[in-house]
Amino acid sequence: MFAGGASQALRVVATVAATLVGGSFAVGFLSSSISERVTSFKKKKYGQPCRSCKAIGYYTCRLCKGNGMISWSPLYDPVFINPCVCPTCDGFKVQRCLNCLGYGCA
Ligand SMILES: [Zn+2]
Ligand SMILES: [Zn+2]
Repeated sequence: MFAGGASQALRVVATVAATLVGGSFAVGFLSSSISERVTSFKKKKYGQPCRSCKAIGYYTCRLCKGNGMISWSPLYDPVFINPCVCPTCDGFKVQRCLNCLGYGCA
């Protein structure tokens, strides 16, 4: 009797816990996507122009300094330095501003 009651209670607790976890996941997902949208909207409308990128959202790649290529040596040997596409900007010469994430406003 007692044991049966305990397992019954455990089952109820497990069901409630599963429901809560699943529900909070759904709510968290929904609210995070909505708040993200609201944040980006507010940023565009009320945000201050980003000072890091001068409100452009992008700035010159720091790794290749705007060249789009870097000198890379597989053996750290100056004899075999190869020009290769910058891995940070993929040759675009610019990288997305980390301060405003490309919005131009922070
Ligand atoms: Zn680069
Ligand atoms: Zn910026």
